[in-house]
Amino acid sequence: MRWSRFFIPTLREDPADAEVVSHKLLLRAGLIRQLSAGIYSFLPLGQRVALKVMQILREEMNAIGGQEFFLPALHPAELWKESGRWDAIGDEMFRLKDRKGADMCLGMTHEEIFTSIARHELRSYKQLPQVWYQMQTKFRDEARPKSGLMRIRSFIMKDAYTFDVDRAGLDKSFIDQREAYKKIFTRCGLKFLIVEASSGSMGGSESNEFMAPSPAGEDFIVRCENCGYAANLEKAISRLAPIHDEAGLNAPEEFPTPGVRTIEDLTTFPGGAEASRQIKSLVFMGTIDGEQRPVLVLLRGDHQLHEQKLTDALRATTVRTAHPEEIRGLLGASPGSLGPVGAREKQPALFIVADNALKNRRNMTTGANRDDHHIRGVEVDRDFKADLWADLRTVEPGEGCPGCETGTLEIFKGIEIGHIFKLGTKYSESMGATVLNQEGKEVPIVMGSYGIGVERIISTAVEQSHDADGIIWPKSITPFDVIVTITNIKQDDLREAGEKLYHDLQNAGLEVLLDDRDERAGVKFKDADLIGVPYRITMGKKAADGVVELFDRRTKQSEDVKISEVIAHVQRLALSST
Ligand SMILES: [Zn+2]
Repeated sequence: MRWSRFFIPTLREDPADAEVVSHKLLLRAGLIRQLSAGIYSFLPLGQRVALKVMQILREEMNAIGGQEFFLPALHPAELWKESGRWDAIGDEMFRLKDRKGADMCLGMTHEEIFTSIARHELRSYKQLPQVWYQMQTKFRDEARPKSGLMRIRSFIMKDAYTFDVDRAGLDKSFIDQREAYKKIFTRCGLKFLIVEASSGSMGGSESNEFMAPSPAGEDFIVRCENCGYAANLEKAISRLAPIHDEAGLNAPEEFPTPGVRTIEDLTTFPGGAEASRQIKSLVFMGTIDGEQRPVLVLLRGDHQLHEQKLTDALRATTVRTAHPEEIRGLLGASPGSLGPVGAREKQPALFIVADNALKNRRNMTTGANRDDHHIRGVEVDRDFKADLWADLRTVEPGEGCPGCETGTLEIFKGIEIGHIFKLGTKYSESMGATVLNQEGKEVPIVMGSYGIGVERIISTAVEQSHDADGIIWPKSITPFDVIVTITNIKQDDLREAGEKLYHDLQNAGLEVLLDDRDERAGVKFKDADLIGVPYRITMGKKAADGVVELFDRRTKQSEDVKISEVIAHVQRLALSST
């Protein structure tokens, strides 16, 4: 490829609206352009990278017996209604009607479609296991698309689905996928770790996320260096120091607390209580089994709720904080004066869910459901009962590791680059996908689903591998292996030597970009650094002596190499592992 003919619209300056590094550099290096919020076009340089990533995905899926499909992006609503997700999924789904008025949607994932094929075609355990996958455009109407390719509304995904006759089969399929994913991310040159995660709206019993540590990430990873425990913050647990409660009152006692609105206020109020001795009471509205229910959430005063944990514990589709008017209607007080004592008597529909850290606590203080009043001497289970105990608390850095005796937890940001789920029989049961097992009995197929976003891999590679001058591509997904820069195109001997080297490198099986533009050498070097090709060969002054300069983009070291030896040299470098 000749730069003079190749469309690489590089930009000198950082685009004003780009925040994260990958967004800036992918735009500046001419790989992508925005079409609309969260919708991007791959330009030729970007498409070369995407194709490299997809080839790695394809090879590793095929290596574990994957069979490639290509399913439509446009789906009839019926299948999503069968699985229950037409109602369970909210505004993230793009929905539309066809000309006859029938409901349709744009696929955000393909469990329903693959299951509909499986239920018509798979009849016997003898046909299992099946490993099906595709690479396809998916759609998700993100509320706040941002960070360039990181959170977008139209994206390429490799999604795989496994079909087994029983749980043991699923366990094996899950491990196969997990191992394939490790190879994929390693081959793509990414640093990553595997964490426990919430399954969210996918359902299922177990899920792992593949997380790439990066300050640009939107997820938080909790990890113990001592034992290797790792979990998404939305799933992470920790070990707390035990609290010894002094014996309290024989019965709870209400007392006036004028002006006290927060946990903090009550810690300094005369006769108040320190935060760990308070019960924090929050009211949420949860959509559970299609119905909206008021939920009273209880935590220790010094603990923070994690909303995804609440959603998971309630098996709710969505949860939201109740508005102050709703809260007053339910409990007769403002948000700063709420508590569990007597709450159900006031509001029988209220569902009370308490965090595990409140178990067996006594002599606690909480709101009285009456403005400017609190209650002290509260004993859990004596003075109120929870409908559900669950882990709701957000883990904090420095807390004890749940996996070992001595470790403490650290928390850092990460980018989710892959997510694998044990779905079990959620889809096969709701959609009627069964096979006959070895005993001739009809059983639902046991499924797993496994997803990787292509754009996420690309932006993560840039986030993890760049410097002040631009991108530094991992060798496996670079758009070109090497760039040949002719310092002065008007000089015939240089141009001819550059052209010859360009052809010889291509004949040696390398992907080469020839910078044959009529530009100053400095401009060309800057552009080459920006687009991040791992090696640059400079055809300049020393060419008359049969020598070129070989520049390593990552180390920024140059060495003089004889033209006669440079091809073998670059071949060796380009083909060595990242
Ligand atoms: Zn540990």
